[in-house]
Amino acid sequence: MKHLISIDQLGRNGIERILDRAASFGSVASREVQKVPALRGRLVVNLFYESSTRTTSSFELAAKRLSADVISIRSSGSSVDKGESLKDTITTLDAYEPAAIVVRHPRAGAADLVARWTRAAVINAGDGAHAHPTQALLDVHTLRQRFGELDGLRIWIVGDIAHSRVARSTAAAFGLMGASVTLCGPPTLLPPGIGAALGCRVVTNLADLGEADVVYALRMQHERMQGGDVPSLNEYAALYGITADRLVANQVVMHPGPVNRGVELAGDVVDSAHSLIGEQVAAGVAVRMAVLYELLAGVEKDDRVREAATA
Ligand code: ASP
Repeated sequence: MKHLISIDQLGRNGIERILDRAASFGSVASREVQKVPALRGRLVVNLFYESSTRTTSSFELAAKRLSADVISIRSSGSSVDKGESLKDTITTLDAYEPAAIVVRHPRAGAADLVARWTRAAVINAGDGAHAHPTQALLDVHTLRQRFGELDGLRIWIVGDIAHSRVARSTAAAFGLMGASVTLCGPPTLLPPGIGAALGCRVVTNLADLGEADVVYALRMQHERMQGGDVPSLNEYAALYGITADRLVANQVVMHPGPVNRGVELAGDVVDSAHSLIGEQVAAGVAVRMAVLYELLAGVEKDDRVREAATA
């Protein structure tokens, strides 16, 4: 596998292989020198055209812990502000001969395009409402650490399914790992056919939330809404917000971040023993190390030059 664009590229075996490696990378953080030499002398470029805190910092840290050199570029403050196109930006960065480009972009399909314009391995760090495969991997990793395996786990994904790349990638990954997934949200935020497409049950209220082992809440993706999808955030929170009194003992709560406290999750739930949100953030580094390792270790620069010459 040269690029990671979508979770469907990895079957259950691929997910398990990457996450087993992530588990072994987990211990690097507790060493005195928090580094392994696997990618020494290789360059990883992070290119973010959308806001990010967790994804950009964990990819940067992951590359550094593998001893790679890292450049992180955000579109604002770069030549993108001066009108440079995505293609010209990639051509420019490709001149530095990166081993990998990690890209986030507001348009679905952008990572796939980038993969055509560079010799580097491309990792999709989120493209519009399409996919966010490393989020899905870190979510599965977090649940494997808590429950062992996901087979038979009942997982509810609640909120703005329509605009969420996390819902698409994470539901697909949970399903591949044997969990039974329910998508829950207001009908206006549930695209027709989404249940069949992702192999999930679809419901429009929280009445049966008590059956879930895992409640995965999503942020309202205002940046991708046209307006009018929900009457108001207060009304949304009243019907779909995950509050302490809607949870039963032993349920765990997840969220990809950033959380809008008081909207999709009550603040006290975020800070409660139900929450695995801190574990998700911590998992991000080891999982992204494992993804970089999967794509880059063992692939020499000369192989990439040969591949490009014969493509
Ligand atoms: N951080 C996740 C993403 O980039 C989730 C979110 O923004 O709500 O898709």
